[in-house]
Amino acid sequence: MASLIETIKAKIDVVDEVGLVVALRKSGKSFQGLCPFHNERTPSFYVFPESQTWRCFGCHEGGDIFTFVEKQQGMDFREALLYLAEKAGVSVEEYSSPNPEQERETNALKERLRKLNEDAVLWFHQMLLRSKEAADARAYLQSRGISSESVIAFSLGYAPDHWDALSSYLLGQGYTEQELDSGGLARPREMAKVGASTMGGEQSGGVYDYFRGRIIFPIRDMRGRVIGFGGRALGEGQPKYLNSPQTVLFEKNSVLYALDMARDAIKLAKQVIIVEGYVDAVIAHQYGTKQTVACIGSAITEKHIQQLKKLTKQVTLALDPDAAGVAATEHGIQEALKAFDRTVVPVPVVANNRWAASKGYQRHEPRGLIRLEEQVDAEINVLQLPAGEDPDEVIQHDHSAWVYAVAHPLPLMDYYFVARTAGLNLREPAGKAEAAKRLLPVIGTISDRVKRDAYLRKLATMISIEERSLYDELQRVLRGQKSNGVIAEFSDRARQQRPIGGVKSPGEMSLHEEQPGVGSGSASSNESGEAEEEEATRSSRANDRREQESRTFGLDKRIKDRIKWEDYLIGLLLQNPGLWPHVCGIINDGDFAGTDTRELYHIFNSVHQRDSSPLFQSFEQFVPPALLETVARARRNVESRSPLDGAGLVKAAVQCATRLKRARLIQSNTELQYLMRGATEAGDGAVKQQLQRQLLDIHRQLRTIDSAMHLQG
Ligand SMILES: [Zn+2]
Repeated sequence: MASLIETIKAKIDVVDEVGLVVALRKSGKSFQGLCPFHNERTPSFYVFPESQTWRCFGCHEGGDIFTFVEKQQGMDFREALLYLAEKAGVSVEEYSSPNPEQERETNALKERLRKLNEDAVLWFHQMLLRSKEAADARAYLQSRGISSESVIAFSLGYAPDHWDALSSYLLGQGYTEQELDSGGLARPREMAKVGASTMGGEQSGGVYDYFRGRIIFPIRDMRGRVIGFGGRALGEGQPKYLNSPQTVLFEKNSVLYALDMARDAIKLAKQVIIVEGYVDAVIAHQYGTKQTVACIGSAITEKHIQQLKKLTKQVTLALDPDAAGVAATEHGIQEALKAFDRTVVPVPVVANNRWAASKGYQRHEPRGLIRLEEQVDAEINVLQLPAGEDPDEVIQHDHSAWVYAVAHPLPLMDYYFVARTAGLNLREPAGKAEAAKRLLPVIGTISDRVKRDAYLRKLATMISIEERSLYDELQRVLRGQKSNGVIAEFSDRARQQRPIGGVKSPGEMSLHEEQPGVGSGSASSNESGEAEEEEATRSSRANDRREQESRTFGLDKRIKDRIKWEDYLIGLLLQNPGLWPHVCGIINDGDFAGTDTRELYHIFNSVHQRDSSPLFQSFEQFVPPALLETVARARRNVESRSPLDGAGLVKAAVQCATRLKRARLIQSNTELQYLMRGATEAGDGAVKQQLQRQLLDIHRQLRTIDSAMHLQG
């Protein structure tokens, strides 16, 4: 049986799916449109029906139908799988669950609880709007500046101060006590101890309302479905805030309030602002800062950020300005840094430190040495508000200050300068030393040399210390940090031995390729380009189901070979997680051709980054059921080969990763060459120029790869 992913891909054409949100124009074998992921006037976004992939040559995003849905709709892989499966009319349970029966039961329960929640929202809302006893609640909301439009938009509600007002209503609607309990809306009454044990039955004593005497903030998931509630006590009730208990719908540590209402605005503004309370979020939306969500009930966790990172890479923290808020902000920053993907970038370790050079320092480091450094693929910053004021106050009373702060958040490093030196006397030697001790390690995390030097200078000025001594101290700090880095040596000589690129045609380039299945296919696809183009024009794209299926099921050989290499690499990593540092600098998610292998590599990365020595024997526990077959396939791939020793393993993994990277670059090269031809024919100089730049970049990367392969032998 074809895998779930293959079945979905065979049933849904990536051109159709992308076409729902991007106006596509056919151009030769591909389709062209304005990229939905960055702002542009001339289209650099392409969909390739033949390979069922898409790529933007402006912002470098790319992938298959799954990647597109994930990025465009802000879903993770599991969500995209559900969405696409539903669309393709296939049942995920049938394919993926080891226990379809139980799966169906859980789904039915979730469905029932969603319905229950919707009914509760309406009831709470009506209570707030109409009941006499909600007068205090209405007055409170008014005193906080919440408009009646916001009350309606957020379906705010009121839970009266009775033991069973909501429960008796819901029981009257046909829900059971068990369902009210599972949904977190009611609790079973404590029975007298003797009574409970003699009667033996559960809940025969009835239930009582979980929320009483509180203003109710319904909490929805990203798709707008109510998953739980937050209740704020009126008056002196304790606790001040009470959230739904953990249920099958409500996962306490990952809930973001107003995410459904903020989703589109976050994508548009390319920023998410995280505030602390319900009221802050409602007020922010009311005053037009709709990219705001509230992190409620707990500190910011990695799970919060996981939901946001598909929508934006800019996270702005706007937590309360008290001491607890400062600690929460530092914690939030760390969690955000953990959650975002890392890009491993090669950083030359040559004597090119401009600051040192400008000061005339001689540094003797080997030429051509490259250090691989992790960069967090995100911009995390902090909203700077007037001292001591909460966001909702600033928004209402000093709106221009709020708007300015939102547009000019404090970069993380500047925030550290403020937060970490608060309370230090920077005129005293002890204060100066402490400031340097606290700030040098964070300065050391900046990969960009120019930026790093600028902050070093800032610190020097701040504590009036000579730059040189700080520079030396920073080097000591860096050496300490580098010990777990990966050093790869690329000598200049090797680089010069195999000149590739710029002037050569893609065909020529591919002919140098001797590894089976890697890159060689790109040349043949070029040779047969004309014929395929004609064919593509003849067939109407969406209606010819048979053609689609043969294309996807009968993946042509070069892709199949690539998948085999991908299986091999995943298998190697699962059996020997220690190989990760050797390959992470070479490839990333986007280099994988297989949807399943790409997602597995993604999961592997995130597990690895969270925990440096995770137990990979149980890797399967992190994997969606739909991908378990691929895990098994990858493990089989490695087991079918003769075992390797330590050095052999490293060599095999590095070679495999390098081949995959090269195959991806060759594919990009082919696509670009093809688009270049189109631009030339159309006489579009600007596009041509842009594509040319992309080509040069690809060729530069190919040169680096080839010199690395040369060294690997
Ligand atoms: Zn783009």
